[in-house]
Amino acid sequence: MKNDRSNPGSISRRKIIKYAGSGLLAGAFGSTLDKILASSETSTEKHSVGAVHSGPTPVSLIIDDGSPVDPLFYEIPGYETPYLVPHEFTRRVADTFDRFGLHGKFTLIPMPSCLGRIDQSLKRVPQEHLAEFLKLIRERFATCFDITPEFLTHLNAYNLKTGKYMHIYEDIWISQASPDEIVEYFSLAFQILKNVGIEANGITCPWVSGIDVEKKFAKALGDSQWNMFNRKLTWYFLHAAEDTENPVPMSVEYKNEERGQIVVSVPSNAGDIFWSMDEPGHENRIKMIKDGIERLVSSDGKKGRIRQLIETGYPVVIVTHWQSLYTQGTGLGLEGLATLAERINKIFGSDIEWVPCSEMARRFAVSQG
Ligand SMILES: [Zn+2]
Repeated sequence: MKNDRSNPGSISRRKIIKYAGSGLLAGAFGSTLDKILASSETSTEKHSVGAVHSGPTPVSLIIDDGSPVDPLFYEIPGYETPYLVPHEFTRRVADTFDRFGLHGKFTLIPMPSCLGRIDQSLKRVPQEHLAEFLKLIRERFATCFDITPEFLTHLNAYNLKTGKYMHIYEDIWISQASPDEIVEYFSLAFQILKNVGIEANGITCPWVSGIDVEKKFAKALGDSQWNMFNRKLTWYFLHAAEDTENPVPMSVEYKNEERGQIVVSVPSNAGDIFWSMDEPGHENRIKMIKDGIERLVSSDGKKGRIRQLIETGYPVVIVTHWQSLYTQGTGLGLEGLATLAERINKIFGSDIEWVPCSEMARRFAVSQG
């Protein structure tokens, strides 16, 4: 999630906007993975920009902070928004995926805003609203997007022993938590999603949680995915660059040779151009989004971040947020997404291919072999 008003002085927190997560892994990966793992000892540290195969360039869209309620209602006191996200809006998002063939990763927060568990009930959310939201995620989102948790609450850390919410946010919690506790924490996140019919193959970090303890975090993710699913390839979204910043490559951040397991960092390289809620007035918001689209893909198709990423081989991953698309109930961000997607498809055509983030991670892993 982007803004963190509780830490206004922290530059790294503001970079939060950008994480990157994604990942899923296809089962038939064994022999390639063995090959990867048989490669040089230094490959754990090897970074590649990922320009590794011929054919269309893979492109992913990350949508973070997904929840049946607008998460900013609790994140930013005083934030004005219709609290429950109507199903009509969620269906419009799915229609947009279908219309433009979009793939990527969608966050489903397991315990959104500390309101409870989505596999049980959420305070102030009617049970039928929750059930229908989850049905739409299963039937309309999970068919083209990886679905991952974003830790448990995307707010206060949850105490696994007492069942109470702590007086620290999850980013502070993970810095000091023991490896075993993190494994248990992530396993609960995966279990909650599993209980509602979704198998997550990776995770997203709220804000930039884990960035200061990335090796510990990546190993805990690998352990948790192994314990839960025996998954050999898992991935996470933590790092992100704005379109004005140097792009970030994918990287292997944990490797377990005994299991034949690797954990891949999938960054985003285009920030959330639809986060217009800080702009005063509808016109300013529209202008901000239009300018953002132009920076990502110029109207003549000759310039822009997407072309830059394609040409340099950095991962073409765009991040946005559920609340950005929702834009306080107006759907302005979603309209912007449709415009961007239409332009990307029109300009790049068969030169690009929308893929889930897990597929990005898989292709990167193969390239490392
Ligand atoms: Zn988030």
